[in-house]
Amino acid sequence: LARLYGPLTTLSNVRVDVLTALVSFERVFEVLDLKPLVTELPGAKPIPAGPVRIEVEGVAFRYPSADEVSLASLESVAAGDRKGSGLVLRDVDFEVEPGQLVALVGPSGAGKSTITALLARLYDPTAGTVRVNGLDLRHATTASVAATVGMVTQEAHLFHDTIRANLTYAAPDATDDQVVAALKAAQVWPLVSALPEGLDTVVGDRGHRLSGGEKQRLALARLLLKSPGLIVLDEATAHLDSESEAAVQRALDTALRGRTAVVIAHRLSTVRGADQILVVDGGRIVERGTHRELMTRGGVYRDLYTTQFADQETDVPA
Ligand code: ADP
Ligand code: MG
Repeated sequence: LARLYGPLTTLSNVRVDVLTALVSFERVFEVLDLKPLVTELPGAKPIPAGPVRIEVEGVAFRYPSADEVSLASLESVAAGDRKGSGLVLRDVDFEVEPGQLVALVGPSGAGKSTITALLARLYDPTAGTVRVNGLDLRHATTASVAATVGMVTQEAHLFHDTIRANLTYAAPDATDDQVVAALKAAQVWPLVSALPEGLDTVVGDRGHRLSGGEKQRLALARLLLKSPGLIVLDEATAHLDSESEAAVQRALDTALRGRTAVVIAHRLSTVRGADQILVVDGGRIVERGTHRELMTRGGVYRDLYTTQFADQETDVPA
């Protein structure tokens, strides 16, 4: 268990990932001996089916303080103490139409991961509402949130279990054919099929060793198999070698096609292709629009573009 607690002290990204791997939130808390920070209200309803529309209205957020949390995360407590009023999000408003790709960009600590955590209802907002298909997530069943939202972060988490089991946690009825199709789409089938035990290979901390890129692609295969209406992604490919990065990118493109998606974007191509870019700074959305609109405006986004993204321009000679 100590091994599992280690990563949890960095909470903001890792907890997200652990949770999203699963259909059942309860199971993960059982495993980790923790209580979820949100509970299902009496009379909770499932999120209405169909293409996902998101409405975030007047959202403010402060991380729960130590006595509100049963979680023994000293690091997060310390982070909270440093914050004064502690609001890490204020006046956050945005809408995502079905099938849209929204890119969140902004400096580190701006609140991007926190916004994505609220979309997956890992926390409830301190003020304001997050609605998915018209339903306030506070009133949604945990099972329907888990089924509707699929999240992949930088720290792809795999359980100490077979590849097949890791993929089908979120899709228990999937056939081997479907598992293989997902592995192919995630560009990881060549690797799995070459293993002596194939789908029965045990992975995870004590299992077959996988690189960061391989783990991330298995997590994407799991996402493709689950086929959630909303994909939430912390797109970081920095620690991957360029071959893995290209493979992960192809897998992502497949996963995102035709779906509603909110992506913390680190890649210029994602940002440029987004239907809507939200520039987050100091817990607020300070600019929004398409790449073209924001470049014309010449504000925070254009500065960010010049410092963060311009080096990714492939059409400009070095
Ligand atoms: P970004 O993803 O844009 O880098 P985050 O959403 O991770 O930003 O963080 C926004 C702010 O919230 C930061 O000040 C960060 O220190 C704080 N924060 C993030 N996670 C937690 C947590 N679990 N507990 C307390 N504060 C946190
Ligand atoms: Mg982040």
